Amino acid sequence: MYAEPLARLIEELSKMPTVGPKTAQRLAFYILRMAPEDAAKLSQAILDAKARIRYCSICFHITDVDPCSICSGPTRTRSMICVVEDPRDVLAMERTREYKGLYHVLHGAISPLDGIGPDDLKIAELLNRLRGGDVKEIIVATNPRVEGEATAIYLAKILKPLGVKVTRIAHGLPVGGDLEYADEVTLAKALEGRREM
Ligand SMILES: [Zn+2]
Repeated sequence: MYAEPLARLIEELSKMPTVGPKTAQRLAFYILRMAPEDAAKLSQAILDAKARIRYCSICFHITDVDPCSICSGPTRTRSMICVVEDPRDVLAMERTREYKGLYHVLHGAISPLDGIGPDDLKIAELLNRLRGGDVKEIIVATNPRVEGEATAIYLAKILKPLGVKVTRIAHGLPVGGDLEYADEVTLAKALEGRREM
C-alpha cells in the first residue's frame, strides 16, 4: 500500500504510546512534507536525547549531567528526600515550586502480580543514601494506587527502624491516578498535608 520507506516510518511511529495507525499515518505524511533540514533536526534531537540523557547516579532522575542539577543544587534542603516512582513525578513536584528537598526515583512500584519486587526498584540505592545520617525525613510520594500504597507500606517498614521520619503525601490526589496528572495546587496541598507513617 505504501512505498517501503514510508511504510517503515509509519510502523515505527505507531509503536509510540497513544499513537494509533491513523495518527502514525498523519505524522508520517507531516514528516514527508517537512523541509529536509527540519526533518534532520527532528532525527538528530531523537539521537541526542538517547545518547545524552541518562540517570543521575544519586537520585536516578533523568539528566544530562551527573549528579543532576537537583542533587548538586546549592539551595536544596539535603535533609529531605521525596521518593517517587517515575522521573515524570519529579517534574510534577518541581512544577509546584513548594518542595525544596531532594528526590529519589524508584523506577516503578512493588507489584507482585507483575513480578516486580523491592529488588527490582532503586530501594537499596535509597538505603545507601541514608548512611551519612544527614537525611531526617523521607516523603513517600508514590502514586495513590494499589502498587504505590504497597510500596509506601514496604518503605515505611524498612526505613522507620533506621531512625528516619517517614511521611506519606496526603490523600486528596485522585485515587488510581498518577502524580504527573495532578495539578500543581492539588499536589502542593498533598505535600503540605503529609502525615507520618
Ligand atoms: Zn540527582
